[in-house]
Amino acid sequence: MKLNIVVLAKQVPDTRNVGKDAMTAEGTVNRAALPAIFNPEDLNALEQALRIKDLDPENVKVGIVTMGPPRAGEIIRQGLYRGADCGWLLTDRKSAGADTLATSYFLSKAIEKIDKEVGHVDIVLGGRQAIDGDTAQVGPQVAQKLGLNQVTYAEEVLKIEDGKATIRRHIDGGVETVVAPLPVVITVNGSAAPARPCNAKRVMKYKYATCPMERKGDEPWSDLYETRPYLTLGQWSIADCGADYEQCGLAGSPTKVSAVKSIVFQAKESQTLTSSDADIEGLVKELLDKNIIG
Ligand SMILES: Cc1cc2nc3c(=O)[nH]c(=O)nc-3n(C[C@H](O)[C@H](O)[C@H](O)COP(=O)(O)OP(=O)(O)OC[C@H]3O[C@@H](n4cnc5c(N)ncnc54)[C@H](O)[C@@H]3O)c2cc1C
Repeated sequence: MKLNIVVLAKQVPDTRNVGKDAMTAEGTVNRAALPAIFNPEDLNALEQALRIKDLDPENVKVGIVTMGPPRAGEIIRQGLYRGADCGWLLTDRKSAGADTLATSYFLSKAIEKIDKEVGHVDIVLGGRQAIDGDTAQVGPQVAQKLGLNQVTYAEEVLKIEDGKATIRRHIDGGVETVVAPLPVVITVNGSAAPARPCNAKRVMKYKYATCPMERKGDEPWSDLYETRPYLTLGQWSIADCGADYEQCGLAGSPTKVSAVKSIVFQAKESQTLTSSDADIEGLVKELLDKNIIG
């Protein structure tokens, strides 16, 4: 069965390794101090896509879509190294400052373009959430904008058969298996299988694969771009996707972050408790009374 899968993947600052230089004096993220990485749950999503492809490599195509500055082309290369077939970087100065609404709008316009010009999109896979924004809104918003079914908290795509996807979800208190008709948007949990490592042969093949905006023009390997078309990655602007500038970037973002504060918790007092029931009960009561837990 022919299947086209789009994986939504975001390049994020590695917020798991935040040090003292992580924020600038102005309260913005100091991106230079935080390595840019493939959003962890997007790697789980990519692995689900590649497992579907493993079952029928000739007929299943996996493409990566990432919205970001030119350096986010690295996300597409990381996808290609693991087994993806192609990728598109959505980049445009006017897409900067996008909140989830504007992000999902640009992503959905790109998916529409892929659907029309490259091949019918059957499955869109993304992470549950990105570790810098943590909203978990983009996947569901993409589904809503495209009018597609959506399955969230997915842990494993169990099978694709007769135009339907059977998916195991990881939900509070257990697991649930659902069947959804294609096309479907699936957002994947971090509890899903980890991504496979990069394949050495594919790294050799794609290490010079770049989007046009990533190139300086004087690279010693520039000639390769003439003879090896697979080294030129897809790159689309807002206009290329037929999207409305007013719905992209800051212009299309109702969310305004007015200030970001770094809060350092300080221990001003301490208590020593024994493991007795009375002490534990007393602590829980105190925390409840002070509305620290509830
Ligand atoms: C401090 C701070 C506070 C913020 N608060 C808000 C807020 O309250 N409301 C708001 O709307 N925005 C907010 N934002 C902006 C938000 O981070 C961006 O909208 C972000 O680009 C998308 O949201 P997310 O990272 O939360 O994505 P999520 O919804 O967590 O991402 C889910 C999945 O969608 C896909 N995806 C998301 N972004 C991309 C991308 N660029 N390219 C490809 N795939 C992608 C990935 O598969 C990802 O795993 C805030 C940003 C900061 C720095």
